[in-house]
Amino acid sequence: MKELDCLFVYPGAPAGKKNLLPIMPAGLLAMAAYLERNSVSAAIISLPSALDGEFDLPGIIRERRVKLVCIPAHWHRQAGGALRLAEQLKRAVPGVRIALGGYTASRFAAEILKEHPAVDFVVRGDGELPLLKLLGSLGTGGRSLGRVPNLAWRGKEGVTLNRTSYAAGSATLTGLGLAGLRFVLNRRLTPRRGICFEDGMFTYVQARGCADNCSACGGGRDAQRRMCGRRGVALKSPASVVRDFAELAAMGIKEIQLPLNPLPSDAYYIALLKLLMKKKLRPVLKIELCGLPSGKLLKWLGRALGPESKITIFAGSGSEKIRRLNRGRFYTNAGLMAALRLASRLGVKAWTAFTTGLPFETRRDFLATAALVRRMRREFKIGRSGVYVFSLEPGSPLFEDPEKYGVTLRRRTLKDFLAQRGKYDMGYSTACFTEREIVRNLKFLEKTAR
Ligand code: SF4
Repeated sequence: MKELDCLFVYPGAPAGKKNLLPIMPAGLLAMAAYLERNSVSAAIISLPSALDGEFDLPGIIRERRVKLVCIPAHWHRQAGGALRLAEQLKRAVPGVRIALGGYTASRFAAEILKEHPAVDFVVRGDGELPLLKLLGSLGTGGRSLGRVPNLAWRGKEGVTLNRTSYAAGSATLTGLGLAGLRFVLNRRLTPRRGICFEDGMFTYVQARGCADNCSACGGGRDAQRRMCGRRGVALKSPASVVRDFAELAAMGIKEIQLPLNPLPSDAYYIALLKLLMKKKLRPVLKIELCGLPSGKLLKWLGRALGPESKITIFAGSGSEKIRRLNRGRFYTNAGLMAALRLASRLGVKAWTAFTTGLPFETRRDFLATAALVRRMRREFKIGRSGVYVFSLEPGSPLFEDPEKYGVTLRRRTLKDFLAQRGKYDMGYSTACFTEREIVRNLKFLEKTAR
């Protein structure tokens, strides 16, 4: 059997737990493609979508003489599964080298290396060049580990955190396209869950980084700079995104989700929609927007996309005061309602996502959200909004500076995050509401939105 340099394994949730985040982080595709382009062999296995008995991981590692196993601990809810898998593999194949990566691993790199001996390395931030250099270093007996960018490693003197000096740029991401899909070993490449699909939609990540800094978001500007060394947003060019959509369409995948937009301007999406029209491509798109869509963007959405497509606007609170204090992109409720009316006239399906439990929220603000949800129901007849609560994200502004936001954290360390259970275990309370009260408020809003 052909030797394999680098094996990425996505574990999903810890055994026996509901996988609250079923999507494999898209970075795995980019890293595998980058390594292959640099003559390093790579493969990806997604365990949640594997058939029964499809993969004998210890057998593969031994037979293909895998030099490095990489496990994503990206979202905090996946960190427990990643550590458990690392321990299982180290027990089964004691000499195997294991690296963790992703946001959560980046934030808690030192803690992971000190407390989890099964993990040999943590790659903080982007992993394309660091993994290439790490594999090169392992080939020479690990002598140059200190020069691998973004690497955290355990040496005789303890844990060393190398500088986070690498972040993939727009040209790198654009050039890699969807090449990484070829390296996924799962036989079912288009399952509903577990690879890059959520609710049957392919999650296409068009960018890395964000220009904003919302209070509860662990992927915002400052978090990315602190944890990953990223300065600025890297975007795939609209032309390359359209090429990738055509490739997905040729594979029979026509439903695509574009997650949270990293730039406040609509220009990128408008350029993308114009190109889609020019190429006569009409995928079913679900576009998530952190800001308010302009009238121009809504018109292009109406023109370029079919009736099945939709946008989701993440509004945060229904109280303008709370939105201003917590979200990077502010708009008024009048602006939001005007955009929804225009979307409705243009035949663009629009959904607004609200949350409760944001810092500084009072009962009056919570009632303002309920009133706005009711108003939307009255005006648009059908439900136009959904409600969610967020659990504390490592690296988010409120995690790093709880006093500034007037919140009390119940989780500070990796160990605390590993102990969380269920979607209502949020890990913080605000000046006005306990966790239990936030959940009660959420359930009230959910009923109001139905
Ligand atoms: S919620 Fe959106 S705009 Fe805000 S920091 Fe996160 S990705 Fe950026």
